[in-house]
Amino acid sequence: MAKEDYEVIIGLEVHCELSTKTKIFCSCPTEFGGEPNLHCCPVCMALPGSLPVLNEKVVEYAVKAGLATNCSIAKNSKNDRKNYFYPDLPKSYQISQFDLPLCYEGQVNIDIGDGEKTIRIERIHIEEDAGKLNHDDYGRGSFVDLNRAGVPLIEVVSKPDLRSSLEAEAYLRKLKSIFEYIEISDCKMQEGSLRADVNVSVRKKGTEKLGTRTEMKNMSSFRSIVRAIEYEANRQIEVIEEGGTISQETLRWDDVSGKTFSMRDKEDAQDYRYFPDPDLAPIILSDEYIDNIRIGLPELPESRKKRYLNDYELSEKASEFVTSSKYYSNLFEDAIKVCNNPKSASNWIMSDIARILNEKEQEPDEIPFSGENLGELVKLIDDGKISSAIAKKVLVEMFETNKKPSVIIEEKGWIQISDEGAIKEVVLKILSENPQSIADYKAGKDKALGFLVGQAMKETKGKANPQMLNKLFIDELKK
Ligand code: ZN
Ligand code: MN
Repeated sequence: MAKEDYEVIIGLEVHCELSTKTKIFCSCPTEFGGEPNLHCCPVCMALPGSLPVLNEKVVEYAVKAGLATNCSIAKNSKNDRKNYFYPDLPKSYQISQFDLPLCYEGQVNIDIGDGEKTIRIERIHIEEDAGKLNHDDYGRGSFVDLNRAGVPLIEVVSKPDLRSSLEAEAYLRKLKSIFEYIEISDCKMQEGSLRADVNVSVRKKGTEKLGTRTEMKNMSSFRSIVRAIEYEANRQIEVIEEGGTISQETLRWDDVSGKTFSMRDKEDAQDYRYFPDPDLAPIILSDEYIDNIRIGLPELPESRKKRYLNDYELSEKASEFVTSSKYYSNLFEDAIKVCNNPKSASNWIMSDIARILNEKEQEPDEIPFSGENLGELVKLIDDGKISSAIAKKVLVEMFETNKKPSVIIEEKGWIQISDEGAIKEVVLKILSENPQSIADYKAGKDKALGFLVGQAMKETKGKANPQMLNKLFIDELKK
């Protein structure tokens, strides 16, 4: 059988660090980094006699996440102990949630260009993060840093609804976008604030039974996740085609070699012996509490998209793109307050800004300039002060220096030439240098006009007003 006869089934368990000021069960700061073991107390270190106290903000943020992903919220849930030994987990159990998660049965929609698809969410629960092991480069051993121990997490478990690496990426981007909109996490993947455990299995198309799955833990870049899923699905298909069987195991993805390696197998043999944490009270929520959080939710991407379609008459594609990130969307809204030109502002975001970010391998939250400055750039074009060719160069400068566009064009001498006399001079010069083009134009070759305008633009280093150039060339050619 060929590769095309197989279907890939992907499930994601997404861990997201919540941006509360303090940890989930003590008052240590959640700040990233810092001297090892500085953000620590007896609770973080699991000293005998220390007792956890649940941070109410964690519950609030998790409920926000649940409501924003269309989950039901449990009015009665609890914390459980998940028992396992690992050196970065001083209690030898993680406080998590087992059978009564805070949020359950939600869904989000994704669109990878072939229409909307609903991805079901099984549950969202709260839990504590573990510490970190720093392995010494000189073989002197491994050092434990407990600064991250007790940082609050939500874990979002999807149903196995994803069918390709692209769908997995779109789903993860959607979650990231929603969590940024509702401001529960900074979602910085490079700092591990958002990471995913990726489950992959394959089955022959048309069959019902799910194949044996493998799991890759703690993946924190979109690119690695896409590559790892593709590699792992192909590997599984090859094993099956050669008559072998897939064993359920945890794999490690190696970005350099582009391969997966076995870490430990028989994952299911792991028995976490969950039981309710006797040190923590059950989490009981009232309808009023949940409704208050629901009322306080900010406008979500779907609603913004509708508004952009109706109020600003943006295209479906533009509305989807601009609202895909809170940072794009806010940039857009601030820009149009200045330039009052939604179409142009959205075009700049979709084309040049997205392209530059892509080249720099950056995310929308790293755009260095404000929406006001983007608005000013659009206004400068609309007012005829700069051409769009110059505006592209101004944008590159805005990424480098974060100066106001008006200051950049002043400093660089990029202000558009709109003086008719000056432009006419250039037109006459270019015409005298290109008699063949005049003949071509008169013979009905309209392309010749484009060539002449191009030459004049070159002559003025892109500063001539293009509408004026066009008009003056036509006037002269008609003589
Ligand atoms: Zn602490
Ligand atoms: Mn977890």
